[in-house]
Amino acid sequence: MSEDRSLDDFAPDGAVDDSDETTDADAPDADAPDADAPDADAPDAAPATATSTWHADGAACDRCGERVERRWRDGEAFVCADCAAW
Ligand SMILES: [Zn+2]
Repeated sequence: MSEDRSLDDFAPDGAVDDSDETTDADAPDADAPDADAPDADAPDAAPATATSTWHADGAACDRCGERVERRWRDGEAFVCADCAAW
């Protein structure tokens, strides 16, 4: 009787310790996406400084006419990545 009770008391403690270790290991990874989130939102939040435009349906490059989803501003024109002056 007493031996069974000792085992029951010990087992839950071991399980809790394992859970804590797993949670601690995941914590750093959970913080990483949060750090990137502000950067991902930045272009939309500051259109005045945006140098590229996104077209979900695609848009023709003003210089070569290639249809691309993303064009970069080059003076008054919007051009594809190949035509953009880096
Ligand atoms: Zn182009």
